[in-house]
Formats: sequence, structure tokens, C-alpha cells
Amino acid sequence: MSEPSTEDYMIRFEDVAKRFGDHVVLDGLNFTVAPGEFVTLIGPSGSGKTTILRLLMTLEQVTSGTIHVDGECLTHVRRGDRLVPADEKHQQQVRKRIGMVFQQFNLFPNMKVLQNLTEAPIRSLGLSRAEAEARAHELLDLVGLSDKVHAHPTQLSGGQQQRVAIARALAMRPDVLLLDEVTSALDPELVAGVLRLLKDIAETTEITFLCVTHEMGFARDVSDRVLMFDHGHIVEDASPDKLFSEPDHERTREFLSAVL
Ligand code: ADP
Repeated sequence: MSEPSTEDYMIRFEDVAKRFGDHVVLDGLNFTVAPGEFVTLIGPSGSGKTTILRLLMTLEQVTSGTIHVDGECLTHVRRGDRLVPADEKHQQQVRKRIGMVFQQFNLFPNMKVLQNLTEAPIRSLGLSRAEAEARAHELLDLVGLSDKVHAHPTQLSGGQQQRVAIARALAMRPDVLLLDEVTSALDPELVAGVLRLLKDIAETTEITFLCVTHEMGFARDVSDRVLMFDHGHIVEDASPDKLFSEPDHERTREFLSAVL
């Protein structure tokens, strides 16, 4: 069987290393995510999961190796017969396809909910204000916050702010959505609603998800694959049923017994 080409993957990490000074966070990391797949990264704190998402958002740069998104190289461009690090403009172009929802929501506090959803589509996608507002209304309906269109983020609960952040990410029509501990800052009674919303979105769209979470029930319920990390390496890459019920590796068993 021939190797799938880069174009068959939505995300491809190839021999990626990331160091902060002398501190090696990722080293020789290889993994791929197929279009439409929901892949969850689990593992102890400090094992490099968030760094992977930040590399995809170009909030950090690889030390070496390459990252491709839907067949396009995020990290490098070809100059003659050499690969050179991509400049910001190239990275922004590739990154346009990726959205991210953060632990701390990161809404624009000085803008109303509507403007939080329309600002980037108008600026980056070139939508007219009317188009962007129509889309924003649809998305607020989807996340159950149609009545908050003129509210300021500070007037919303954490769960509502996170729903707005999810709607804001969707407003950019991403091919890939990165979720970084999106329920960690929420009061416990608000967690289930946000997770249910994400599950609905995953099931009803073609979006590819890469998710970092401590919510093991959610990971088991929605993921197509789970990658267990330790010290920047993938210890185990398996279906959720396999990984949570009969993991192959002692390190995975140890981790799961500590968190479950
Ligand atoms: P995880 O998401 O699995 O908890 P992270 O990717 O956040 O892990 O962090 C992996 C390691 O990289 C940690 O040891 C962390 O301290 C370190 N790290 C992350 N970002 C930076 C940074 N900007 N400067 C220095 N060290 C960092």
C-alpha cells in the first residue's frame, strides 16, 4: 500500500521539535489528523499538549520539523531547492483555516457580543457588515444566545462567554477547530452544556477537531482517536474505547487511574 500524500491529512506534524531555551518540550513528534476527525490529546500537565495547539496557531514557532494544514505547509516555504521558515504573511494565510477556543474565553471585553462575532469576518474574510451580522445571528441562535446579541461579555456567565467564544470561532468558517481546556474555567454546573454544544457541532459539521481536555467522559464520548502524551511523546494512539478500557501502556493506565 502506498503512503497517503500530505493532501490526505488535515493536520500533519512531521519530526517536530520545540525547545524553550534548553527545555525540550517536543522532540521528533509525528502525527496526522484526517479531515473531519475529532482527535483528543490527553496526558499529564506539562507534557506538551497546549504547545501543539499554539504551534498550529503560530503563537509559537517550531524549533525544527514541519507542520502541514490541508496540504499547505504552515511552517516553511520553498525557496529554490531549499525550505526556509515561512514569514508571518504566509503563516497567516494558512492559519486562516484554523480557529481556537481558549480556556479563558478571550472575548474582546470592550465590544458587544455581536461585534465580537463580526469583527474578524469583516476584517479577515472581507464579508460585508450585513453578511457578517446575518451569520452572527445564525451562530448565536446555534449556541442558544440570541437574546444576548447586544450584551457586553462582562454581563454574561462563564458558560455564556464560552458559547460566544465558540460562535466567534465558527464565524470564521474554520476547517480546523482547536479546543484548549475549554471548560476548565467554568463553574461545574455550566460544563455539561458547553460540552453538549461542542458535541453537536462536531457531529453536524465537517470541521476537524484537535482538543486538549481533562474531561475524560467527553473525550471518550466524542473522539475518533485519543493520543496519550507524556514528556512530549505520544505514548499511545488509539480509539477511545480501546484507550480508556484496555490501554496497552502502563503510563496510560497510571494516568487514567489518577484522573478517573
Ligand atoms: P500541557 O499542555 O501538556 O500542560 P504545555 O504545552 O503547556 O503542556 O507545556 C509543556 C512544557 O513547556 C511545560 O514544561 C511548560 O512549562 C513549557 N513551556 C510552555 N510554554 C513555554 C514558554 N513560552 N516558555 C518556556 N517554557 C514553556
